[in-house]
Amino acid sequence: MNPVTLKTVDGAPRTITSEAMDELRASLRGALCLPGEPGYDQARTIWNAMIDRRPAFIVRASGANDVMRAVAFARMHGLRLAVRGGGHNIAGNAVCDDGLMLDLTPMKSVRVDPVRRTVRVEPGVTLAELDRETQAFGLAVPVGINSTTGVAGLTLGAGFGWTSRALGLSIDNLISADVVTADGKLVEASAESDPDLFWAIRGGGGNFGVVTSFKFKLHRVGPEVLSGLIIHPIAQARELLHEYRRITAGAPDELAVWFVMRKAPPLPFLPAEWHGKEILAFAACYTGDLEKGKQAMTALRALGKPIADVIAPHPFIAWQAILDPLLAPGMRNYWKSHSFTTLSDGAIDTLIEYARKLPSPDCEVAFAQLGGAINKVAANATAYPHRDLQYVVNIHTRWGNPADDATCIAWARALFDALTPHATGGVYVNFMPEDDEKRVRTGAYGANYERLARFKAKDAPENLFRVNQNIRPGA
Ligand SMILES: Cc1cc2nc3c(=O)[nH]c(=O)nc-3n(C[C@H](O)[C@H](O)[C@H](O)COP(=O)(O)OP(=O)(O)OC[C@H]3O[C@@H](n4cnc5c(N)ncnc54)[C@H](O)[C@@H]3O)c2cc1C
Repeated sequence: MNPVTLKTVDGAPRTITSEAMDELRASLRGALCLPGEPGYDQARTIWNAMIDRRPAFIVRASGANDVMRAVAFARMHGLRLAVRGGGHNIAGNAVCDDGLMLDLTPMKSVRVDPVRRTVRVEPGVTLAELDRETQAFGLAVPVGINSTTGVAGLTLGAGFGWTSRALGLSIDNLISADVVTADGKLVEASAESDPDLFWAIRGGGGNFGVVTSFKFKLHRVGPEVLSGLIIHPIAQARELLHEYRRITAGAPDELAVWFVMRKAPPLPFLPAEWHGKEILAFAACYTGDLEKGKQAMTALRALGKPIADVIAPHPFIAWQAILDPLLAPGMRNYWKSHSFTTLSDGAIDTLIEYARKLPSPDCEVAFAQLGGAINKVAANATAYPHRDLQYVVNIHTRWGNPADDATCIAWARALFDALTPHATGGVYVNFMPEDDEKRVRTGAYGANYERLARFKAKDAPENLFRVNQNIRPGA
């Protein structure tokens, strides 16, 4: 193998000798890919087409050995190290230019223990793959709403979806994780073993090590959940969102109602005259008994005069993937996000104003309902601090043509600015784009940042894990 020239973390050029590269390649069970070699482009291509980065080489890990080797190699040579789980992160932190990319996607094992109701998950697993295995036993872990997302990055940031108001965040269901730390060693992090590391990885992203295995608690869910969409004309949005605020304030924890404002896609149950028109869509899911779900959704379903109401029992696996067609990889995406403890009249008016001037047919304002079990955990019990929220908005800007970059990004930023007076100032770390760095300390971590920074100074003082929403080692 030829020597490889790349850049160190400080941007200085460095040449890695052919002997060192050969030795690394020979030590791996998985593959080492250079530019142009099979697997290189596949590994560096991620969900957001805005990100087009070229690592100097990629280790496609088959197991903990490969992860330990890659981490030790990056540290020894002072390399920039990017870690890929599912490759969904909007900021593109799964991949870096000129450094070492550690691709975990080949690590796909999922092992359910139906007796103890636990599941062990490797970091290349997607939400769909996890659900498929756990639902074979009528069980589930709370995860997100797009089934091609990676379990790893989602969990390390916190992880919420349809079942989280009933069952908590993904991190609230994490029992332990195997972590390769900056010194290249594998440790188990749990409440009993390395509790500081366990605290830090539950929300602290990939800042503290590379997780090679997650162990989660499982819950009985499905096989069917009462769930579906209710579509309204946007002209009714103001009255409907005032009612939404009232209904969600009194909702049982089992019920989650999100809404999306966008141009209507050509859904088979929507009359053709509505395709491409602006709509408000409620998306609701009841995690529990189907009959109780019907009662819990009565008020929501009685609102206004919907264009369509397709609430019905759906297989949980199908519901978990219901929005996938609108969120497929390969488009250009830019997100901005705000968090809310209440939904003010001003926020409602602002959301509607901007939903009426969407810059592309694929852009949407996506509004998630949180609260419930998520807020029964103390704000300092895990690194994720936002335990008082009721809602999160994701300004989900999405388009195909690079010529539209500036217009679409400007729309997202303008809506974000207009919503700022109505929001908490906090932000979910998993929804932050690459230019949101200044929000990491106060916005993403708030009062938990100091403890995270202190722990990093002890655990990873050289900040090896820096291609992420970065927590800097601090005294
Ligand atoms: C369409 C879409 C829908 C989404 N919906 C939701 C939702 O409903 N709920 C929700 O909570 N989030 C949601 N998200 C956000 C999602 O949680 C983040 O994008 C998350 O970072 C994705 O994880 P990943 O493993 O796929 O991403 P990656 O880009 O691979 O990784 C994300 C970050 O985690 C780090 N990382 C990944 N794996 C490891 C590992 N094993 N060890 C250490 N660090 C690691 C990476 O280095 C990177 O910094 C959504 C994202 C998308 C694109």
